Amino acid sequence: MFTPIDGRTVLVTGGTKGIGKEIAGVFARAGANVVVTGRDAEQGEAAARELSGQGGEVAYAGGDVAKAADCERVAAETAARFGGIDVVCANAGVFPDVKLADMTEEDIDSIFATNVKGCLLTVKACIPHLERTGRGRVILTSSITGPVTGYPGWSHYGATKAAQLGFIRTACIELAPKGITVNAVMPGNIYSEGLDELGEDYLTSMTDSIPLGRLGKVEEIGAAALFLATDEAAFITGQTIIVDGGQVVPESLAALQSA
Ligand code: NAP
Repeated sequence: MFTPIDGRTVLVTGGTKGIGKEIAGVFARAGANVVVTGRDAEQGEAAARELSGQGGEVAYAGGDVAKAADCERVAAETAARFGGIDVVCANAGVFPDVKLADMTEEDIDSIFATNVKGCLLTVKACIPHLERTGRGRVILTSSITGPVTGYPGWSHYGATKAAQLGFIRTACIELAPKGITVNAVMPGNIYSEGLDELGEDYLTSMTDSIPLGRLGKVEEIGAAALFLATDEAAFITGQTIIVDGGQVVPESLAALQSA
């Protein structure tokens, strides 16, 4: 039995759709007050309305994680609205695909700005608020793509997701004296609006490569994040949890098919 986290405040970047929205939903249903961020205000307000009334209060704060001023403002607005920040889920991310030979400098700058710089700026802006609680939690949404696996078209994306894991290993040491833990969830293929845009063929081939025979559900990433935010996970820092239905495990296609 885990200690309830109701009444705590959670900031979820990229919480207006997909995985982030359901991370927000899982925390809200556990009684936490949640602020979701994203650049599309209409989508953000709709997500906050949809998630409210299930437990804790859910609000939207607009912002681009690639801009330091936006990250500072969102952290300040969250703390002002709910009296602090206990948990920050740095989840905002993009995954455009382009092969290395065709990649432009702008493609590289743009994905690193959101997935890496955005993550560091988000966490940096939240540090004073997390420290004040005495039990702050930082939870990143990384990926299996990059740290463990590869997929043509995502060399830049994989580099950003591996970079996030490099980040947590030093951040967890720097923030430990402030009572803050820093961990990451590494999703496999999770059915989200963003994944849906990759098309039917991609979704089918991914489903076929997962030992559990299905794509992940967004709430399954939310559940892993919620666990890392519990009092019972207080001694876990600098670590990762893969949530992928066993996708990274088979040695070969034959290993998967002969089960
Ligand atoms: P999604 O459905 O496309 O949602 C992405 C969210 O991030 C949206 O709320 C989007 O809102 C926000 N966002 C994007 N760029 C942003 C920016 N510059 N500033 C602020 N917010 C921004 O994607 P998803 O599938 O849920 O992915 C969420 C995270 O999970 C990403 O970090 C991704 O790398 C990771 N992940 C996903 C999967 C998967 O299978 N789906 C697997 C592994 C890892 P706006 O566009 O309005 O800003």
